[in-house]
Amino acid sequence: MPRLRCFYHPDYFLPLPPGHPFPMEKFPQAHDLLLAGGAPVEITPVSPAPNRQLLRVHTSEYLRKLAHGTLHATEVYKLGLPWQPQLLRRSSLETAATVAACRHALEHGMAANLAGGTHHAFPDRGLGYCALNDVAVAIRDLHETRPELRVFVADTDAHQGNGTHAIFRQDERVFTYSIHGERNYPSAKEPGDLDVGLPREVGGDDYLAALTETLPASLDRFPADLVIWISGADVHEDDRFGQMRLTTAQMAERDRMVLSWCRERGLPVAALYGGGYNREPGMTARLHANTIHIAAELHQFTQGRNERPARPFDTPRTREPRAPASKHEACP
Ligand SMILES: [Zn+2]
Repeated sequence: MPRLRCFYHPDYFLPLPPGHPFPMEKFPQAHDLLLAGGAPVEITPVSPAPNRQLLRVHTSEYLRKLAHGTLHATEVYKLGLPWQPQLLRRSSLETAATVAACRHALEHGMAANLAGGTHHAFPDRGLGYCALNDVAVAIRDLHETRPELRVFVADTDAHQGNGTHAIFRQDERVFTYSIHGERNYPSAKEPGDLDVGLPREVGGDDYLAALTETLPASLDRFPADLVIWISGADVHEDDRFGQMRLTTAQMAERDRMVLSWCRERGLPVAALYGGGYNREPGMTARLHANTIHIAAELHQFTQGRNERPARPFDTPRTREPRAPASKHEACP
């Protein structure tokens, strides 16, 4: 039975000062939980993304500053991670895994990065624990060889994907969807193609209702070739920063819903972590592992029924080209 290909590297983990709110240990913990829990996954290591790939999104000046530790104190503060020599390499590994997951998903229907979804990063600056924008680098990489490829970014992290939205605002081939806390970080939102802003401490039922009302309709109106899904574990009720109230069961329901909507439409999915800052030690890793486990089982079920992987890499498109002239008109 086919296993879900998950791209990963042990050096996703970078030591942080004691008390730092970013749970860096979630990466090795979730990896270990997936294997211990018997999830049908196949782990594949990655090498750092080469500079020429990063330069398709990020400025050379910013990459130089990340490499040499010459970021201004304000830039480090906004990034939220202390600079250290391994920071660029760590972020490049995570980015390479998203690139690999997207390529693999296009060929095999689904793949995952056991990290990724660093959606706050802009071309010239890092923000909110995101040094590089892995999703943007992956999309630009795909467009190098397939310029016509249409990508749907489904961002269900509790925070708005402001960096990704800004990078692709003028790109008709990319649809940015984000469901997030309207009053939560980042305070300066960047308009995406569809922003679903929810009230503070939104309950799980209301979250799932809003998701059901907006995501399937958007998937129908933008004929994508690939969905990049930033899942986000920070929608959980015990998260420190998410300001949402989904139970663990409701999170699992969200994951099944998103993946099923994609599967029903024959859409390949690259699944990424996004954020997670649970108050309970170890819980963030459990939630990420749950998401990937659900994806792996669904992938196995789909493949087990001998369904052809959706729209393999070189198969001609089966849908009609998108009718509306602008993606902004497609889904107001
Ligand atoms: Zn978040």
